[in-house]
Amino acid sequence: MKLKSFIKKQNPIKVIVFVAVVLYVIFSSGFIDDAKKSASMMSSSIDEIEKGDVNTEGNLEVYFIDVGQADCILLKNDNGNVLIDAGNNEDGAKLVNYFNDLNIDTFDYVFATHAHEDHIGGMDDIINNFTIKNFMMPSVVTTTKTFEDLLDALEENNLKYYTPYEDETFDLGDCKIRVIYVGNEENDLNDTSIVLKVTFGDTSFLFTGDISSSIEDEILFRDIKSDVLKVSHHGSSYGTSDEFLDAVNPSYAVISVGENNVYNHPDDNTIKRLNQRDIKTYRTDNDGTIIFYSDGISINVKTIQTDTNG
Ligand SMILES: [Zn+2]
Repeated sequence: MKLKSFIKKQNPIKVIVFVAVVLYVIFSSGFIDDAKKSASMMSSSIDEIEKGDVNTEGNLEVYFIDVGQADCILLKNDNGNVLIDAGNNEDGAKLVNYFNDLNIDTFDYVFATHAHEDHIGGMDDIINNFTIKNFMMPSVVTTTKTFEDLLDALEENNLKYYTPYEDETFDLGDCKIRVIYVGNEENDLNDTSIVLKVTFGDTSFLFTGDISSSIEDEILFRDIKSDVLKVSHHGSSYGTSDEFLDAVNPSYAVISVGENNVYNHPDDNTIKRLNQRDIKTYRTDNDGTIIFYSDGISINVKTIQTDTNG
């Protein structure tokens, strides 16, 4: 029976009861709540969200430095500096100048996420030119010249490296750094990457090194929800799965990638998955150096065009 003919055949009281029952079912099913939730998610922009009253000292600055097809991230607040990776070999001298210009002489924590050249290339220059209080890297070693340069620099500066454990936390003022993952699989250096979540007040950042989707699956149910995601492995097709993006649920993403790189990074499907979720995505090849400013409540972004590709 069609709805129209059903209504015609019933008396008005029955029709009113029928409509009331239908409306009750719709409202009590949570349909409206879900619709409200997805509408607010779609319109969310960190700049506009007041996340609550938090008591944070100063600001946190997070620099995604344009080092071409490589990673280099600086975290900076009134209490100190943290470095995550140091670009390729040829970036070392440039990074030393860059950090000198920012009046940095000490790094409280340096993380070498994993032993590939595009993450540890400039690390020997960093070790030789700055005071480093804590140097962290995975326990998996390799035999490349770049890695040996790093070990030599540590030795010459009487520094020992430390491999953090999962869930270990480090403080930098009110900024908390949590180790989400450290791998020890020797035949895939990317998957040894140290994954870090940095929380400052109500704002958060997730740094994924070069992990692949198999590690993303492993950490899917850990504390990874973050406002800003450093997209893993330069946006390659091996990471940034739908499930991972849904779990992190970031408002912003950053891809550290070289212009016209031979690997064809980032992968089109990675970009598609980010776009489908309305995640505002910055890329070092297009945007240059990308700086996020957090006061613990909101996040602002600034980009600085770089004339050298890294
Ligand atoms: Zn890499």
